[in-house]
Amino acid sequence: MLQGEIRRQEEEKRRAQAVSQGVQGAWVKWEQARERKVTWKELWSWEPLRTQFLLKSVYDLLPTPANLKRWGKESEEKCVLCGKRGTLSHLLTGCAVALGQGRYRWRHDRVLRVLAAALEEKRVQMSGRKQRRLRFVEFVKEGGKGKRRGKSAIDEGLGILASAGDWDLRVDLDRKLTFPEEITTTNQRPDIVILSAKTRQVVIMELTVPWEDRMEEAFERKAEKYNELKQSCIEKGWKTWYYPIEVGCRGFVGQSTWRGLGAVGITGRKRKVVTKNLAEAAEAASRWLWMKSKEHTWKI
Ligand SMILES: [Zn+2]
Repeated sequence: MLQGEIRRQEEEKRRAQAVSQGVQGAWVKWEQARERKVTWKELWSWEPLRTQFLLKSVYDLLPTPANLKRWGKESEEKCVLCGKRGTLSHLLTGCAVALGQGRYRWRHDRVLRVLAAALEEKRVQMSGRKQRRLRFVEFVKEGGKGKRRGKSAIDEGLGILASAGDWDLRVDLDRKLTFPEEITTTNQRPDIVILSAKTRQVVIMELTVPWEDRMEEAFERKAEKYNELKQSCIEKGWKTWYYPIEVGCRGFVGQSTWRGLGAVGITGRKRKVVTKNLAEAAEAASRWLWMKSKEHTWKI
């Protein structure tokens, strides 16, 4: 009995240590991630598995191979797919075999669909609008002689999509996207291209679903990746915007996403809803990847 009790205490101590180690690497470092609000009402309505995944993934308390070894429950800590150390960040974002099998791409596309749907809704809402940016209202001050140009739609905070009525949205999903040749030729395939041929404007977006701690790194890598393409569009006379968009794999949306949505005119309550939908799509897909992380094959 005594031995049993000592063992239990040792176990407890190890667990407490594991918890503090987990927390050290947790959300306190997520500078680029937006705060996520989950109400009690929502929490109660969720399946226990979902709540567990959210909390345990944030605090790194899921029984990953690495944690099982740390907790003294297993002697091996290898990822079953590749043999490297099986931490949660490895399983959800860093495994070369999982990547090769298309697991991360699958999650990426689930989130991309949500983003594309929101942009399409905005596009439809804006289509047929007059081209605000090109029409200038003339103000003549009373008693004055000065003429002033009217504000553009973008200046007014209506967003880029309010500045034309002929936006065309292309998404790199089912049909592989080739970059619109009328703009420039490139082999690169950003996730989303929104263009207005009449006003020669183009918005490029690239989505990443990174480990939250590495959001900033992902943003910078993507900014670099398409910088040349952006310059090339500008040189061809297109007004060009480029937004890398990050949605963390555990459902924490990046500041970049918030800004990108605002830039195209998705604001107010709508922006909150879209952000929430993006977060939930990433989280649900990661939960699925976690559940499948011990299976050698991947089939969807
Ligand atoms: Zn692996």
